[in-house]
Amino acid sequence: MKSIVPFVAKLEKSEIDKWVKVLKKKLKGARVVKFSDLKKSEYSKVEVAVVANPNPSEVEKLVNLKWVQSIWVGVEKLVQNFKGSGVKIVRLVDPEMNRTMAEAVLSWVLYLHRDMYSYRVQQDKKAWIELDYIKPSKKVVSFIGLGELGKAAAKKLIENGFKVCGWSGSKKNIKKVKSFTGHFGLKKMLGQTDILVCLIPLTDKTKYLLNYKTLSFLKKGACIVNFARGAIINEKDLVKHLNSGKIKHAVLDVFEQEPLPKTSILWKNKRVTILPHISANTDFDSASDIVAKNLRLFKLKKKIPKSVDLQRGY
Ligand code: NAP
Repeated sequence: MKSIVPFVAKLEKSEIDKWVKVLKKKLKGARVVKFSDLKKSEYSKVEVAVVANPNPSEVEKLVNLKWVQSIWVGVEKLVQNFKGSGVKIVRLVDPEMNRTMAEAVLSWVLYLHRDMYSYRVQQDKKAWIELDYIKPSKKVVSFIGLGELGKAAAKKLIENGFKVCGWSGSKKNIKKVKSFTGHFGLKKMLGQTDILVCLIPLTDKTKYLLNYKTLSFLKKGACIVNFARGAIINEKDLVKHLNSGKIKHAVLDVFEQEPLPKTSILWKNKRVTILPHISANTDFDSASDIVAKNLRLFKLKKKIPKSVDLQRGY
């Protein structure tokens, strides 16, 4: 009998249709449907659903749901909604996503490293000023979070000659990456950092991890790239450090409220570069292959892929 796999998502209709179409093609043994096309009599037959920002009230109707497959890497919102439900969350782990993020990290680290933002400001003033060049081998780029994305990006920066450090929950053994853990490890790492890259999930423990105090541990003139979640950094504290010159520049791709409200003071701050959450989007081709593979494995062997630890939140 064909298993029923609903696609439960709050996305543009065209995107939902695209996902349903490709999953139908890749999962011949399943009836893949939009949640809205699911019959009420089918709700209790669903064991797995594919999700992207699902409406919790729709998910609740699937009373025998065992697990959900997210088409996204970051699952912070799902973790909040599913805590205590007994439903497992499988997030997207995709080498193509790791590659895209590593490329984004390299691009924006080079933007900071080669003072591109300063030259832009100088052009506005018609100023012809040569800024000092410091070799990558003399610069330390540190990562907050050394998971799937952090590791791939760290390797990319090492290939490009930077010194690399990383802070994570557990000690890491990655060639040429100086690993730090714990509060004192964070302080020690920040004190030697020229460019800080955030790639850590948002959990109860990491909310405002970077606040006035922790940001003050950074070297004077350090720069920040946030590609994780807005609430990892306390925005007001960041602005204080930017305005005092302690932090030279911040590249922000993620915000507590997205799209960033027109009233935000960040828009006009010359020390901030704003990106509209574009550092690494899900690659449709590779992600749909991975999702289909995971669903096939469950159908054949009843095996649920490695799921998120709902207690620790990632
Ligand atoms: P991951 O593989 O789960 O890695 C998470 C890393 O963070 C691990 O190194 C983990 O330490 C560390 N960590 C978590 N909580 C910690 C804590 N309290 N103290 C110290 N270290 C902690 O995640 P990922 O795939 O690399 O993704 C990271 C995040 O990137 C996602 O959660 C998402 O928010 C964000 N993201 C953003 C975009 C974008 O477009 N901007 C796209 C995709 C993802 P251990 O290794 O010790 O567990």
